Amino acid sequence: MSILKGECPPTAGLPLLLGDLAGRGGDFAQRLAGFLEVPAVGIACSGTASLIIILETLRRRSKRTTVVVPAYTCPLVVFAIARCGLQLRVCDVRPLSFELDPEALAKICDERTLAVVPTHLGGRVADLAPVIAIARRCGAYVIEDAAQALGARDGGKSLGLAGDAGFFSLAAGKGLSLFEGGVWVAADAGLRAELSDTARDIVPRGLLMEARRCLELLGYALAYRPQGLPFVYGHALRRALRENDPVAAAGDCFSPEIPFHRVSAWRQAVGSSALARLPAFQQRLARRAAERLPRLAALPGVKVLSDPPGRRGTWPVFMVLLASEAMRDRVLGVLWGAGLGVARMFACALPDYEYLRPWVGECHVPNAREFAARSLTITNSPWLDDAHFEEILGVLARFCR
Ligand SMILES: *Cc1c(COP(=O)(O)O)cnc(C)c1O
Repeated sequence: MSILKGECPPTAGLPLLLGDLAGRGGDFAQRLAGFLEVPAVGIACSGTASLIIILETLRRRSKRTTVVVPAYTCPLVVFAIARCGLQLRVCDVRPLSFELDPEALAKICDERTLAVVPTHLGGRVADLAPVIAIARRCGAYVIEDAAQALGARDGGKSLGLAGDAGFFSLAAGKGLSLFEGGVWVAADAGLRAELSDTARDIVPRGLLMEARRCLELLGYALAYRPQGLPFVYGHALRRALRENDPVAAAGDCFSPEIPFHRVSAWRQAVGSSALARLPAFQQRLARRAAERLPRLAALPGVKVLSDPPGRRGTWPVFMVLLASEAMRDRVLGVLWGAGLGVARMFACALPDYEYLRPWVGECHVPNAREFAARSLTITNSPWLDDAHFEEILGVLARFCR
């Protein structure tokens, strides 16, 4: 296998320019609202913190106590729910999908359900109509986890507006990044006002943590390039793979201590400056996806998730499903750790993380387990050139016949 000069990131994040660090980007919240074409957004210190603010707000409105999440999603969602003192309910997904299974959801929802949290994963847009219908029927709110889909549109509108509220992540590698950051949106002006009130009430200044984030953002700006990525990503990945630790390799080791603090004007201004380049960057990613997706989909035994008509996702990665776990593992045996941006989204279904045991009970989620076992991701980073993409296609063709 030819060696790339450096390393591709597992998802296509927008690289920062040194000029962004001058912090002259203008009002971040206002510009983000403009980019998303929504009346207003709230900025938080992470996607998880945004979810905490939303849950805390809904909790003030209602006596209900449980929150339903898909069984294949980010473990941080579990910690956000726990931190709000709410009870987690895990729901299986549709076959070969990350989307909540309507039949399973209808069985789980009841008069205790405060909210349902469908996920839009890897830039793909989930079909919310059945989820919203079921939630409405039982009187629950819908919170869209669009952490990985900033800028995606459904019927021409930003994600987060079809449900009651939604959030995006600005963590490293998730499109636009402040190293860590989050954004919340809500269609209803009354709820937006309550979300702002909650944030004002419960988010401490947290200067020390914010100072650390400022340094980390500097480091991210310097290291997020092929020559830097081995040091901040690749070496640790390969160590985790040598130690046979897929949870660490997938970057899924999280702590229940969620940092909670305000985002400084400087970091917001950096984000604002980078945001000016995001529309053109996302268009380029979409064009390359339109070229590469058919190549992947044409391979026998390979299925790639894409958008049905009306939904326009973003393209940080390709989410690929192979015919069996054994094939997927053979492919990853060659490519995960090869520096080409081939990886796993989440290592397993929520009930299969050892460290989530205190929060996630044993549950029957065969579809989520199958999705975890048969899926892999391929970066859509501009740094993955055609020659290396052909190598990935070659490995898939060799192992998937
Ligand atoms: C990353 C992620 C989150 C959490 O966002 P952070 O900004 O990392 O706190 C939540 N849900 C999904 C699906 C994610 O990928």
